[in-house]
Amino acid sequence: MAWRRDFRYASPMPELPEVETVRRGLEPALVGRRLTKVTLRRPDLRFPFPPHFARRLTGARVAELRRRGKFLLAPLSSGETLIVHLGMTGRFLIDLAQAADDVPFRDQCPPPKHAHVVFETDNGPRVTFSDARRFGFMDVFETANLSHHLQLANLGPEPFDGAFNQSYLAAAFSARRRGVKDILMDQSVVAGLGNIYASEALHRARVAPGKEARRIGRKAIGRIVPAIRAVLEEAIDAGGSTLRDFAAANGSPGYFQHSFRVYGRGGEPCPNPGCVGRIHRSIQAGRATYHCPTCQE
Ligand SMILES: [Zn+2]
Repeated sequence: MAWRRDFRYASPMPELPEVETVRRGLEPALVGRRLTKVTLRRPDLRFPFPPHFARRLTGARVAELRRRGKFLLAPLSSGETLIVHLGMTGRFLIDLAQAADDVPFRDQCPPPKHAHVVFETDNGPRVTFSDARRFGFMDVFETANLSHHLQLANLGPEPFDGAFNQSYLAAAFSARRRGVKDILMDQSVVAGLGNIYASEALHRARVAPGKEARRIGRKAIGRIVPAIRAVLEEAIDAGGSTLRDFAAANGSPGYFQHSFRVYGRGGEPCPNPGCVGRIHRSIQAGRATYHCPTCQE
């Protein structure tokens, strides 16, 4: 069906806005519901599933669906939390049809070989997780000790948190020789940014992505914080409108098409006001980087 193509990630890898959109899309399908059956179709994704994964989830009620950085966290009535990372290609599909004959399950779901986990809920939709490249993972961990989980323990502040501000970023940049984009993608510095939104934010802040972090002046740092928030907010809004337009109709939790100003736009004119430069594509630390050499210093 055509709508499924519309919902491909614009980005090759989900970052904070995509994860947040998935969270909002999944919330009505899962929160408050009991997981009546959990089916695992393979033993691992990026990592093996934890022991007794399906058994530990079955019968538990989903109390809440939260996001931390690029992680989805679902605290359960059992006292444990389901942790999900989408990796590069992790996708959820919500099968709104109660009866499989109404809308054939196979029409709503990715190919069976990629439908790795199936969650059935009481009086609610069936939720399927697939991950073609298997860079994502799921874990179950004691809620009371969640902050000690290996993947969550060292996460930096959320970009919208007050703790993420100019003086915090100045301290994070000081004495660091790595490129500023690399530092922003470091999840222990700030949680949720990846290659795309870091590139977009630095373009708006007019800071060159490869510039050594320690050489970024305070004024530029003062532009980076609001630029990060602006690009994330716009992308979350775009995801939100996708959800409003489509989620109720087809159950896809917001794999939205969001347009970027620089990412994927090598050779195009720079969209920054007053700039006559062109977007340049380069490879930095193994990642495609897009920036405008004219206005990003
Ligand atoms: Zn420019």
